[in-house]
Amino acid sequence: MTHPTGWGLIGASNVAREWIVDAIRTQPGGEVRAVLSSDAGRGAAFAQANGIAYHTTSLQDLLSRPDIDAVYISTGNRLHFEQTIAAARAGKHVMCEKPLALSVEHASEMVRVCNHAGVVLGTNHHLRNAATHMAIHGLIEDGRIGGLIAARVFHANFLAAALQGWRVKDQDGGVILDSTIHDIDTLRFLFDENPVSAFAMTQSGRLARDGIEDGIMAVLRFPGDVLVQIHGGYTTPFSPGGIEIMGERGVIIGRDCMSQQPIGTVSVRDADGEHEIPLKHHNLYHRAFGLFTSAIHGDGRPAATGEDGVASLAIALALRESARTGREIGINVP
Ligand code: NDP
Repeated sequence: MTHPTGWGLIGASNVAREWIVDAIRTQPGGEVRAVLSSDAGRGAAFAQANGIAYHTTSLQDLLSRPDIDAVYISTGNRLHFEQTIAAARAGKHVMCEKPLALSVEHASEMVRVCNHAGVVLGTNHHLRNAATHMAIHGLIEDGRIGGLIAARVFHANFLAAALQGWRVKDQDGGVILDSTIHDIDTLRFLFDENPVSAFAMTQSGRLARDGIEDGIMAVLRFPGDVLVQIHGGYTTPFSPGGIEIMGERGVIIGRDCMSQQPIGTVSVRDADGEHEIPLKHHNLYHRAFGLFTSAIHGDGRPAATGEDGVASLAIALALRESARTGREIGINVP
């Protein structure tokens, strides 16, 4: 039986317009019933452009609606904390954008309050939903390349002019909390582990200002002495995104797979040569919202839980601290 799920959008954002309205409506019974914007005109325009019947500037107004079961929060990063807490206390399930919050303490509190309220908290880390990364996870789990030794992630591109706002101007922007945090979540998903320490150097000044980073080279050490290198950035046009996982018996190569789009290839290179793994691509956000919807109806868990969001944030903040202090930072995921 299909359960109807009424959604409220908290944030008249680009990601909601581009991906999430569609991902909600793709779910059987999924309806977007209201949108909240801090600006009445922007909310009205967003509602009209996306066929949403109701818009409001009041969080309490949106949260008091009985026809809203779940909210999707995609406001500026500094608002996620208080909006999630308010939504949970109003009994609404929460799919929150990354970073969950700006501190590990706040993110952990979000998990605690959602658990206490009996609502599901998901973190919208989309990449672990990609057919490419699911295939890579399966290959690692099956021992296809033997014990892991090292990995490289390339996830640097050129930030489109339309996105050169808070990402490069606000202290809660920067490439680490915007993009590298997705790489971190993906690595946690692929390895089923958290790294134990982090080291990073960052760049600033090409697109971002005031010390906000627009490029990063980072190293994470995972248990078992597995080293991972990450390159992220906003300033390098034409750079393809990819990942390579090096094991004792071979290499897994993911090409064009650090993307919101359902694209990319995965191959294994070993003593038998290079073989492409057959993939069936699907929309990453459709899968994420499908799993989340099932979870709020009592079946399974979100692709990335609130706890995953806390962990990825803790690791991302360790990279920031390393870049600021020049030291390797030990990681303790709560
Ligand atoms: P936007 O800049 O589009 O929206 C963020 C907020 O900015 C909105 O809530 C809105 O406030 C305000 N805003 C939007 N347009 C304008 C405008 N023209 N003038 C002034 N303010 C405006 O952000 P994104 O969609 O890029 O990102 C939103 C969140 O989603 C972030 O947390 C980001 O990290 C995350 N994100 C996640 C992605 C993923 O794949 N998981 C992809 C992209 C972003 P109001 O609601 O009050 O109108």
